[in-house]
Amino acid sequence: MKINTYHIDFLSHTRDFLADILFPRACIGCGSRSAYLCDTCLRATPRKQDHTCPFCGSVLVPEGRTCLSCAPHHALDGIFSAVVFRDAIIVAQAIHVFKYEYIRELAVPLGMLLAESASRTELPLPDILVPVPLHPWRLRYRGFNQSVLLARSFSATFMPELPVPVREDLLVRHRFTLPQAKSRTAKERRKNLKDAFSLVKDTRQAKKELKGKTVWLLDDVATTGATLEECAKVLKKAGVKKVFGIVVAR
Ligand SMILES: [Zn+2]
Ligand SMILES: [Zn+2]
Repeated sequence: MKINTYHIDFLSHTRDFLADILFPRACIGCGSRSAYLCDTCLRATPRKQDHTCPFCGSVLVPEGRTCLSCAPHHALDGIFSAVVFRDAIIVAQAIHVFKYEYIRELAVPLGMLLAESASRTELPLPDILVPVPLHPWRLRYRGFNQSVLLARSFSATFMPELPVPVREDLLVRHRFTLPQAKSRTAKERRKNLKDAFSLVKDTRQAKKELKGKTVWLLDDVATTGATLEECAKVLKKAGVKKVFGIVVAR
């Protein structure tokens, strides 16, 4: 059978319907009926303490900034992560349920966790938040881009009096890539992602808006950081001054 967009839409609707039945609201951590991830469990989640350079991993740096020796070879100015995957099991589970069991509501506590952690840093404040884009096929299947929902929730908590604009209309992902989790080695991941992102069609307008700006690139997780780096390359080429990856878990 040839899969077409009708099938993808049908699957996506059936899946949303099933998600509601299969996952009645209960906290992933304690089972309380108040939320999928309750305030108490969220507060108890251990935050990442020591940050190392996202590229060499060997230098302790404040807030995950790219170290001086790696900086000349990379577009990203750093990756800040709120928690460490293996130390924050509840958050790791929440991210999984959010993305693969399609529980959109989890964007709220996860975005809040990220905003609260990032607000304690001294990173240059963002002019705009750019969620890492999904390929249109994956977006259509999942029904939402988890990074966009995270960025909105982040923005609502981070500086509520002056919310940082979420710009999901600047970057596009035009190559359908394997899920990062399925491409094992760092080399494979890089190959998988090469030239996967670009600016939207009206590049002149986008460049005008991006020139000299500080961008925080939002995503749920970063493993090698290759996805964030590829996005950062495009943004830097368009004239962005600083790009920091801001992720819930690494
Ligand atoms: Zn709980
Ligand atoms: Zn380094």
